[in-house]
This record gives sequence, C-alpha cells and structure tokens, in this order.
Amino acid sequence: MRPSLLDPLFASTQSLKGIGPRFGVFIAKLCGPLVVDLLWHKPFRVIDRSAAPAIMRALPGQTVTLEVTVETIQMGKHSQPSRVRVSNATGFMDIVYFKAHEATLEKQFPVGETIVVSGTFDDFNGKKQITHPDYVLPLSRKDEIPKVEPIYNLTAGLPSKSLRKTIALALQCAPELPEWIDADYLKKQNWPIWHKALQTLHNPRSDVECTSQNPARCRLAYDELLANQLALALTREKTRVLKGHALIGDGNLQKQFLTQLPFELTNSQKEAIKEIAGDMQHGNRMLRMLQGDVGSGKTLVALMAMLQAVEADAQSCLMVPTELLAQQHFASLSKITAGLPITITLLHSKLNAAARREALEAMGSGTAHIIIGTHAVFQDDVHFHNLGLIVIDEQHRFGVHQRLALSEKGTTPDLLVMTATPIPRTLTLTTYGDMEVSKLTEKPAGRRMIDTRTISLSRMDEVVDAVARKIKTGEKAYWVCPLVEESELIDLAAATERHAMMKLHLGEENVALVHGQMKSLMREQEMERFAKGNAGLLIATTVIEVGVDVPEATLMVIEHAERFGLAQLHQLRGRVGRNDKPSTCLLLFSDKLGEVAKARLKMMRETDDGFKIAEEDLRLRGPGEVLGSRQSGLPDFKIADLSTHQELLQTARDDTKLILHKDPDLETPRGKALRHLLYLFQYDKAIKTLRSG
Ligand code: ADP
Ligand code: MG
Repeated sequence: MRPSLLDPLFASTQSLKGIGPRFGVFIAKLCGPLVVDLLWHKPFRVIDRSAAPAIMRALPGQTVTLEVTVETIQMGKHSQPSRVRVSNATGFMDIVYFKAHEATLEKQFPVGETIVVSGTFDDFNGKKQITHPDYVLPLSRKDEIPKVEPIYNLTAGLPSKSLRKTIALALQCAPELPEWIDADYLKKQNWPIWHKALQTLHNPRSDVECTSQNPARCRLAYDELLANQLALALTREKTRVLKGHALIGDGNLQKQFLTQLPFELTNSQKEAIKEIAGDMQHGNRMLRMLQGDVGSGKTLVALMAMLQAVEADAQSCLMVPTELLAQQHFASLSKITAGLPITITLLHSKLNAAARREALEAMGSGTAHIIIGTHAVFQDDVHFHNLGLIVIDEQHRFGVHQRLALSEKGTTPDLLVMTATPIPRTLTLTTYGDMEVSKLTEKPAGRRMIDTRTISLSRMDEVVDAVARKIKTGEKAYWVCPLVEESELIDLAAATERHAMMKLHLGEENVALVHGQMKSLMREQEMERFAKGNAGLLIATTVIEVGVDVPEATLMVIEHAERFGLAQLHQLRGRVGRNDKPSTCLLLFSDKLGEVAKARLKMMRETDDGFKIAEEDLRLRGPGEVLGSRQSGLPDFKIADLSTHQELLQTARDDTKLILHKDPDLETPRGKALRHLLYLFQYDKAIKTLRSG
C-alpha cells in the first residue's frame, strides 16, 4: 500500500484549485494526469524581469518591467494596431495591441494613472514600444510580477501563466519525505533534500540554474535513476529466485536445420549461437542482448536458440511490434524451417475468433513450439504450456514497466533481446539492467553495398523520374519524408503533400502512405498494399523504421536527409538491399548545408558499417543530440538526462547492489524511505515483489 503521506501527489491534477476538466486535459497531455507528474515538468530557462531601464536607454529585445503613467489610448483602425501612449520621467513609449477591444483597454489602462507593465521592449522604426506585454497591473499589485520567471514547455491551449500557477500548487502538495539517499553521499555531493530540491528546480534564478548540472536537478535525477535501477533489480531478483529453466537440447533439430540452410552461418553468428546456448543450458535465467547491424542475421541466431528450446521440450515466443511484421516473420520462418518437425503459431489481435481459438489452444496444449506474437501475447487469457524462451525485437521499446508486468505472469523464461541500435552499454542498463551482450560484427557474405548518393532537393524532378522508372520494372521504392522539428503534425503535412504529388505522377493505386497519426488498422492496410499488393511506392514518415521486410524494395529516397540522425539514416537504408538486385539510396538535402551536415552525409556515402556510423555520429553531434533524440530507443526519463548523468547512473547501479545486499526486503529505515521513492516514480509493481510489499 502506498504510504498516505504521498496521497496528495497521487490525486488528479483536476483536484487542484482552478484546474477544471478543460485545462486538466491539456495538462494531462503535457505532463500526465496526476499531481506528481507536474513536479517533474521542469523549466528549461528563465525570463529575468528585473531590468527597469530608462525608456530612452532600453534595448530592443530586452525584457523590461516599467512603471509608467497612461496618457492616451488610440484605437487601431482597419488592420492598424491599437496604441496606448505611456510615459514616465525617462521618456515615453507605446503599448501596442493587435485586435484589442476598446472597453478592455480602457479598463486596463485608466488614463492618468500609474501602472506597471512587463514585456519585451522593441524599437520599431524609431518608435519605442512593447507589443502585447506579458503583465499589465495597477501599481498596487506590482509584487505579482515575478522578478525571475521559469519558462516551461507548453502545449497549445494552455497559457504559461496557468501552467506556472498549477505547478506552484502541485509543489505545495509535496510533503517532506524521509531521506533515501545515503547520508554520506548526499553530503559529499552537496545536494539539497528532496523537498528543497523540488522547490529549487521550479524557482530557478538564472538560465544556468535550469541546466542538468544544477545540484537540485542532479539530486532529482539521481532519485529517478535510483528508482529505475532499484525497480529493475527487485524484479530481476524475484525472477532469479524463482529460478530459470535449464534448456538442454540434443542438437538434432539444429543440425537438421543447418543442413537444409542454403548458406553458411557467419563466424559471429556461430559465436553468438554458442554464447546463447551456454546461457540457456544453465539453470539461471538468461538475460542477453544480441546486438547486430541491420541485415547481420539476428533472426537466424534467434531461430537457432528457439530450436534449442524445442529440443528441450519448451516453447519459445518471438515478440514483434506489429501484426504485419508478425505475419512476415511467420511466413519466412515457416518457409525456412519447412521439413522440420516443429509447429509455428501466429498470435495477434487481428485474428478472427476461430483462428484465435485455434492459436490459444495450440499454445496452451503445447502443440505450438514457436509462437510469433505481438503485444496480444500478454493478454490475460493467453496461456503457454511451457514457455522457455522469449525473444524480443528491441523495436518494441518495452519500458521497465512492461517488463515488470511480464514478470508478473509468473513464468521465468530466458530472455533474448535483439537490437540494431549500438547504444553504449551503460545506457542499456536503464532498460535492461545487467545483461550479457552478444555482437554480430560481420555481414553475411555476398552482400552488396547499397549505392548511396546525395542529391540536392532542387533536383526533385529527376528523383521523381527515377522512382517512376524503378516502379515500372516491378521493383519497389520507399520515400521517407522530412522530420520537421519535433512536431508530428508538420511531418504529416509534408508526407501528405508528397503523397498527393506522387499520386499525380504514378497513379493513385501505385502509391501507399503511412504515418504516425494514422489509425493502426489503416496503417497496416497501407503497409500491406505496399508489401504484398500493387503499390510500388510507399510514402512514410519515420514510422517505417520499425523493421519492415519487403525484398522487392530496391530504392530508398530520404527527403531532407540532413535532418535525420546518422544511425537513423542507416536503419532506413537497411530497408533496401534485401535481394540480389542492386539497390540505391538517395539522400536529398537542402542547399543550405553546414560543414557538419556535409560531413555526416559524406559518411553515409562512404560506409555501410552501422557501428562506425553510430560512433561518428556521436563524435560529430555530441551525445546530447544523438542520445536525446526521440529515435534513440532509450527510456524517457523526466529529470535525468543520460547524456550528462551517465555517472549518476553508474552510482545508482552500485548503490542499488549495496542496498539490496544489506536490506533485500527494504525494511530498514532507509529501505522504508526507498519504498517512498519507488512509489513516487510509480514502480508499484516492483514493491509488490517484496516480502512485505
Ligand atoms: P537482421 O534481423 O539482423 O536485420 P535478418 O536476420 O533479417 O537480419 O537477416 C537478413 C537476411 O539475411 C535474411 O534474409 C536472412 O535469411 C539472411 N541471412 C542471415 N544470415 C545469413 C548468412 N549467414 N548468409 C547469408 N544470408 C544470411
Ligand atoms: Mg530483423
């Protein structure tokens, strides 16, 4: 049970004064539905309103707070703005409004009285003015204007003043909590206590205090990382105690499979298969990650592991992110294992009732050996006979929370996670905890390098012709639309516009479109039209990064390639070159390219090695951008920033080990305090693993 001390933080934000359903919805969208979610919504800079210069000396762009007397109000006519003339001993200026109501202005600006205005000063053709000031108040209420004001990320419909007020109310709900950080460490770091740290986080006095290096921020980041590591460790501990299966096979199925395989395994595939086999034979639970570039043959390695499980009379489950991908894997694995005495079963939420019943029956009775499934596998009515191995494609981006839910199913299957993102080891800690890693470092023989070219966007016509020619031959093409800032809506506009244009050139039935805002059913239908149907061109925002496998695709066009991360470009490029025909990748760039952007695109032309590309990307752009991007696959921390808090993560991990060694059930005073911490970050499920949870 959550300590009642924390109750105020777990109330709905709508229980706060002044927050009705309307703002509640905006706030939920921005930070989350609960009061506690507001605490983690940190300001990213400040506005300093303390400057009160002489009007004659104020600088354009400067934020000023001035006491002035109202002289005249001149309402704007036609499209002209309204102007309120104000003055003080240091000069005069105008307060400017577009589309103002006369009555409102007269009320706010009583002629002859002294008021306070705060806003951005401007010099418009020699006219000194403030347009749409942030604050206009009678002199008596001057104190309501903050000297330094924190600035938060906003969402449309939510005024910054309302958000600030709401966060201030949320802060008042924060109780003083028992300290969970080791006293010596806290002292050594010179960090404030939790309650104080929160107050400081939301009342920065300068931009510097808004950075991730600020002590208050570091403390809260450490809290978040410690909660993460502790939750992972508790879950792992629990499943370890339950003990894994020792999956020992006789090697017969694997041997039979390999003799019918039309190609040789690469050396690193052999090595990875051996490492995995060793883990599976062991009584402890396997937690292993298989890292390998796109096309390095991870699926085959996973299949060998699954065959070992079958030999040991256990089921395996391959988890994939979409129905379409599940079907694809089902088809290709069925084909490649034809002739082997095994049954592969498909389970996803779009199966019709009869097919679903049949799949569930096969899974429950054990006639299904290998199950290929989507999230649907975790539904309550799904039961395995004897699940020994789960293979997860990292594209799932399972968070710690889902992982906890998985362990609640009570089974302790071996776990193999496949990833194509070469993220630094320390960072994998945050989603997977301590995992062993196997790497596929070579590509299968005979792979052709994809012919990668960079082309100016001004040559769009030629690119369109190239696409048209490709499609005529029966081959297929992808067209990825630019990522514009972090806004899906703008991405979408670009994609739909391109879709309209290409339909004109190629004919409606030849062009499919997918983007993140689409209903998933619609998206899968469009994907299907491309993968199996007539559509020769697929226009997409980056959603197609989630591994689709369409062997006929031999052309990849990426618009505004300079806006993508290199690793991301590499992933996208890996969608082509999957058959014996030569493949091409066209990187379209804007003409105004800087040096770094040029170097990055050159890199793409010159190498096909994902690890090298990732390293170079890290070097060129710095960890902040690479790891901070929404494509990195890292968990979303609210306070911690993994590009600067890596060291804290290491410490949190070591700390966790010590804590659980001394106090495995979190029953000492510090242990009890740590329970508060876990609840704060909503790791309730981790607490349930404790004896007295
Ligand atoms: P990944 O999942 O690592 O991106 P896949 O497992 O999908 O790569 O493999 C890509 C393609 O390469 C598949 O068509 C697979 O059959 C083929 N492949 C895998 N291993 C080899 C190998 N050793 N030699 C030749 N082709 C291979
Ligand atoms: Mg794959």
